Amino acid sequence: MKKIVVIGGGIVGCLSAINLKEKGFQVSILDQSEIGQESSSAAAGILFPLLPWDYDDSIYQLCINSDRSYEALSKRLIEETGCDPEFKKSGMLLKQKIDRQGMSEWSKKNQFNVEERKVGDDSYFYFPDVCQISPSKLMKALKKLMVNLKIEIIENFKLTPIKSQHKTIIEWPSENNQSIGADFYVLATGAWTGLIHQDFLGNIYPVRGQMIQFKKNDIELPHIIYGDNSYVLQQKDGAILAGSTRENVGFSRVINPEAINILQKKARSLVPKLENIELDKHWTGFRPGTNENLPYIMKDNFYENLFINSGHYRYGLTMAPESANRITKLIMQESI
Ligand SMILES: Cc1cc2nc3c(=O)[nH]c(=O)nc-3n(C[C@H](O)[C@H](O)[C@H](O)COP(=O)(O)OP(=O)(O)OC[C@H]3O[C@@H](n4cnc5c(N)ncnc54)[C@H](O)[C@@H]3O)c2cc1C
Repeated sequence: MKKIVVIGGGIVGCLSAINLKEKGFQVSILDQSEIGQESSSAAAGILFPLLPWDYDDSIYQLCINSDRSYEALSKRLIEETGCDPEFKKSGMLLKQKIDRQGMSEWSKKNQFNVEERKVGDDSYFYFPDVCQISPSKLMKALKKLMVNLKIEIIENFKLTPIKSQHKTIIEWPSENNQSIGADFYVLATGAWTGLIHQDFLGNIYPVRGQMIQFKKNDIELPHIIYGDNSYVLQQKDGAILAGSTRENVGFSRVINPEAINILQKKARSLVPKLENIELDKHWTGFRPGTNENLPYIMKDNFYENLFINSGHYRYGLTMAPESANRITKLIMQESI
């Protein structure tokens, strides 16, 4: 049985590892910290590329059917791990001026439902089929599923930048003077990909995002609300979240209070009932930024047993199921 090592335990690495295991490979997944602690847990959990008509169609092609994949995965996670990742069809109200014609052409082409809704004197677009999930609960459940599937999980194991002159990587060294060997490697290291593989330095870069969560309250949000390039959403357990910033500050985790104030103001303008509700917590994550918003899903240009699945930027959660399918297909072609 061929052995695959997936490097990086975010959503992209975990779904790739599960797909590959189910195709009959022996799979290990490793992370420099713990599974699911980085961008994938920091995300808002919206399973939709917010304004898809503004992007190249190839972005939506990676997101298409993501909601169906997560709905099925959620059922499986509840049954097989007892953990509920809180998938729900929430719908999204768009309170922002948009390219009406672009949106209308896009929704017709993709047969995506859209309604026009009156709120007071204003008219907004509503997307009833937009879904969401709780990213931190999803990542915890996926870790349990991987244990059940007998995928080897190696945590606190940081691999060093790849320097081998040979086209086939036999052993990949770690920072603690150990190494790991495999027939194939999948680099799913998100924002850190340029640090471990020189070819991606500058092509995949960290774009910090901050999120806020309000204290428990009685407000019920019927759907996600998006406006002024921000969003407010409610998770199944009642928590109200708002986000997010886009900051080019490298890997700095120093909180920027000004950004948090702006997020609060925008959230309160979208949902005025939040005016007197205080903040409960805030957090940051590093999106794996790319210029075109498109990830690299490919066989490496030099190393013949290395595959890349990185750079999912703003929609990695949404894109992860299709990305996992694509990388699995590429590896299966090579392993015949
Ligand atoms: C605030 C915020 C809100 C977001 N909201 C959404 C949303 O609503 N919907 C959506 O679809 N997307 C959203 N995103 C984007 C999404 O979170 C990312 O695109 C996605 O999580 C990327 O997944 P990943 O697995 O590639 O990266 P990560 O989750 O960051 O995982 C990469 C992993 O690789 C590990 N690693 C790195 N280097 C090494 C090494 N040398 N050795 C071992 N391990 C290593 C890291 O520790 C990390 O765990 C949001 C992001 C942020 C920050």
